[in-house]
Amino acid sequence: TTALVWMRRDLRLSDNPALEGARQRCERIIPVYIHSPDEEAPWQPGAASRWWLHHSLEALHHALQERGSRLIIRRGDSLGALRALAREAGATEVHWNRCYEPAATERDSRIKAALRAEGLWCASYNGLLCNEPWTLKTGQDAPYRVFTPYWRQLAPRLAQQPPPTPAPAALPPISDTLERLDVDALALQPTIPWDQGLREQWRPGEAGALERLSRFVSDGLDHYAEARDLPAVEGTSRLSPHLHFGELSPRQVIEQVQAGRPDPELSEPYLRELGWREFSYQLLYHFPQTPAEPLDPRFAAFPWRSEDADSLLAAWQQGRTGIPIVDAGMRELWQTGWMHNRVRMIVASLLTKNLRQPWQQGARWFWDTLVDADLANNTQGWQWSAGCGADAAPYFRIFNPVRQGERFDPQGGYVRRWCPELHRLPDKLIHQPWQASETEREACGVRLGRDYPWPIVDLKASRAEALAAYDQIKRGG
Ligand code: FAD
Repeated sequence: TTALVWMRRDLRLSDNPALEGARQRCERIIPVYIHSPDEEAPWQPGAASRWWLHHSLEALHHALQERGSRLIIRRGDSLGALRALAREAGATEVHWNRCYEPAATERDSRIKAALRAEGLWCASYNGLLCNEPWTLKTGQDAPYRVFTPYWRQLAPRLAQQPPPTPAPAALPPISDTLERLDVDALALQPTIPWDQGLREQWRPGEAGALERLSRFVSDGLDHYAEARDLPAVEGTSRLSPHLHFGELSPRQVIEQVQAGRPDPELSEPYLRELGWREFSYQLLYHFPQTPAEPLDPRFAAFPWRSEDADSLLAAWQQGRTGIPIVDAGMRELWQTGWMHNRVRMIVASLLTKNLRQPWQQGARWFWDTLVDADLANNTQGWQWSAGCGADAAPYFRIFNPVRQGERFDPQGGYVRRWCPELHRLPDKLIHQPWQASETEREACGVRLGRDYPWPIVDLKASRAEALAAYDQIKRGG
């Protein structure tokens, strides 16, 4: 018998439950990727995600070729493409790992029902998460909205994951008569070559993911708890794009982390972050409206600032707000497709609170520019930062970007790296060049307004305005 393995956010061969499930039942396996961005609307992959996807699909195809198989690539309507391929290949079964985004969930149930009605055997599996998002509930049988009690339930389950399965050494060959599109035909690559920074930083695909994981376990894990908040050092795992595209499974990460550092004091802070990922997925699953709407409905009436909105947003996007830690973060994002978590929180606070621009605008920009853009994590991250999500930082907790910079980038190494025009400023001024006298600045080669902008917003006044706006919605209008 022949099975199709429909690959989506599981671009790997090891610990892939759908691939394993198909191998256990069928002699012939046809791995297929169907490019159908319209089915993910309104959250089709952004530019940085498309770049990643291109390279990840190429890597997967090569890994399959090394095992005697190949990746069949098709495009268009997924149901039609699966039907056609099943007919061409004489397949009687279709296996896939589940996706949890609202559009994908709806599509997949429709496809499962249609294929089953046509006599095809279908099975879906969990290959993306440790825990299905519908399994953990509060004592009141409701989804969790607060992380700590959720984590108390989840943590013991992480330790009890079944061991990950290795990649198959060989796979059955696929007939040459089956048509396969080349990855280039999907036109995922940028037409203007802006991707040099991404190429320097990342190696998409399963081999790159596993290499990064083992490097992190041997070199980074011991210092994670102290280093994870310091953007100037490589203190976190940078596995997020690999996890997003399913180039490795969370089970593989957990297994290596626990094997490498059995002491829970060392592994817990890291596993907790994977817990946030699971938490985000359960929120998206239970509250599918949240990519567009605040979980806290009071925020639907928030008085966002309309004056100069376009120019404020553009300055934020382009890293020219005049606030160094924010500009450094936005430039890191633009050049590498990634931004440090601490800095994501700082730039999100500035946009939604000091500049009072809707969090959805920030989420959209991140969606297009992050290589790890992930609907569950991005939505949760933005709603948390804007104070309107589950377990959110209260709206009135407004980050002071200068204090944040001084605390988490005390020597200014991060700012100097991404805002080189400021590199000669002394540490005490690097996070607030406007506080220096003109002579002091000129001695360091910085003329505000020419080499680097004046701040686009007064941090103190805008903080007061944000609090007043919040008071307005708290009082109900
Ligand atoms: P590590 O610290 O090494 O953590 C390991 C893994 O845990 C990460 O790879 C990620 O999968 C998960 N994780 C870590 N922190 C979080 C978190 N706060 N919430 C959920 N999962 C987490 N993460 C994304 O993967 N995609 C996004 O689109 C995204 N958008 C964000 C937007 C905002 C405004 C904020 C504040 C955070 C966002 N995050 C997002 C969460 C977090 O910033 C990234 O997951 C993290 O920076 C990735 O780097 P890392 O792999 O080195 O993390």
